Amino acid sequence: MKINIPPQQADSSFAALNFDNCFVRELPADPESSNQLRQVHGACYSRVNPTPVVAPQRVAFALEVAELLDLESTACESEEFSQIFSGNRLLPGMDPYSTCYGGHQFGNWAGQLGDGRAINLGEIINQQGERWALQLKGAGPTPYSRRADGLAVLRSSVREFLCSEAMYHLGVPTTRALSLLLTGEQVTRDMFYDGHPQQEPGAVVCRVAPSFTRFGNFQIFTWRNEIDLLRQLTDYTIRTDFPHLGEPSRAVYLQWFEEICRRTAEMIVHWMRVGFVHGVMNTDNMSILGLTIDYGPYGWLENYDPDWTPNTTDAQGGRYRFGHQPQIALWNLVQLANAIYPLIEQAEPLEAVLQLYNDHYQQGWREMMAQKLGLKKFETTTDLLLTAELEKILQLVETDMTIFYRKLADLVPTDNHDDNNLLVPLLDAYYQPEELTRKHRDQINDWLRSYLKRVARDGVSTAARRQRMNSVNPKYVLRNYLAQLAIDKAEAGDHSLVNDLLEVMRQPYAEQPENEEFSLKRPEWARHRAGCSMLSCSS
Ligand code: AMP
Ligand code: MG
Repeated sequence: MKINIPPQQADSSFAALNFDNCFVRELPADPESSNQLRQVHGACYSRVNPTPVVAPQRVAFALEVAELLDLESTACESEEFSQIFSGNRLLPGMDPYSTCYGGHQFGNWAGQLGDGRAINLGEIINQQGERWALQLKGAGPTPYSRRADGLAVLRSSVREFLCSEAMYHLGVPTTRALSLLLTGEQVTRDMFYDGHPQQEPGAVVCRVAPSFTRFGNFQIFTWRNEIDLLRQLTDYTIRTDFPHLGEPSRAVYLQWFEEICRRTAEMIVHWMRVGFVHGVMNTDNMSILGLTIDYGPYGWLENYDPDWTPNTTDAQGGRYRFGHQPQIALWNLVQLANAIYPLIEQAEPLEAVLQLYNDHYQQGWREMMAQKLGLKKFETTTDLLLTAELEKILQLVETDMTIFYRKLADLVPTDNHDDNNLLVPLLDAYYQPEELTRKHRDQINDWLRSYLKRVARDGVSTAARRQRMNSVNPKYVLRNYLAQLAIDKAEAGDHSLVNDLLEVMRQPYAEQPENEEFSLKRPEWARHRAGCSMLSCSS
């Protein structure tokens, strides 16, 4: 039975939202407020209204995110919710705007980019006193839309919505997603830029984060020599998002930059832990808070291949391939250092901080690997070799990274050093076990023996080790083909799999016997299917 909520009830929960639009209040605005394309000088943002849509329809919402905003599920199920978060209705207190930013795309400076299809509705202070910015993605053109339409399709919106929440529950710093709505309108997209445009259902996601500020928001001002604006945005960001650093000063700018380097390193360590490939690590897609942001042609490693990228646009160069992400993050931080240089006017201290990124990353990576392997701590003398050898055996034949680590937790140290069947419990992780030659098996068994010896040296019980490993090695990740199955169904009008996957991804480390099917390795049909192994920026 469907219970209709009286409109007053829904009204009151939205009316209680406490808007405090600090960004627009404290930073300079573009005097013009139309969505006409333009170069915006002397401003951090432009006021712009979402474009109304014909027939908003809710596909899904994330209750935990609603709760951050003090909204209950009844409010999220209301018609008013769909009207608000599709951009059709503004609430009192909302003051919509798009921000101006630049960025390096694939290593080249691209000039002004900006929120081309993102419109911030405002910032909410919740009952805990936390600040949350609400942002619609796909709500129509802005001054920054360049040659595009400001819209988003269902396919990419399902991917953004589900992955934001999957990452959050995996413990990876990320922007969140409140809602996924259909607009009731069609959008034209040429998915692989190969002259085959198609009509696809339009959609809007409402993203939620303390701030959506990117490296590119700072870069644009330095590039334009608008140093006053650079300082204003930096001071604002420090006061609002890094208040523990104290009042802005030259020393505080350096501390701030160090914290950004540290947070970025931590984010990348998490990506490497769970097998996430962002796909478009341009500087305009790097959050100043170290959050994963802008879910486009991202992907999850199925077989462990450090050279893999899901993004067909990047297939040749592989700039953003899995194993290259730590270096690219550093490259991006160097660009940010260049952008804030005018505030510091000395290269050495910035270089010294950049050097710390490597230390943070190395340290974080070692701790993370020790956890993945269930070791008490990473011991350089033995574990550098152990992890280097692991890296090799994972690449002998197609090996599912997620399943491999999960199964590894089940192995029990034995006294039988001749055991050549150690590998048997891991066979599930291999895409084509028949490809494992005698030589491969020997190599893997050798590694497993040294691993189990190492584990025995720690003296931790198998049960305790398993528990430790299973708390950092997920059983459920948003496998590329799973998201695609949810998209296929949603495009046919059935939203159930989007909601089922959201539910499964809420507990990625738990055994969920009833959801075993979502933990299985990629089926053969998905190997070369568009959307499963190949994605593009067209979204
Ligand atoms: P990305 O690297 O895919 O996050 O986007 C690069 C730039 O293109 C950003 O400034 C986006 O806002 C903009 N952009 C991407 N898709 C669209 C679209 N459909 N309409 C307007 N701008 C877009
Ligand atoms: Mg982007």
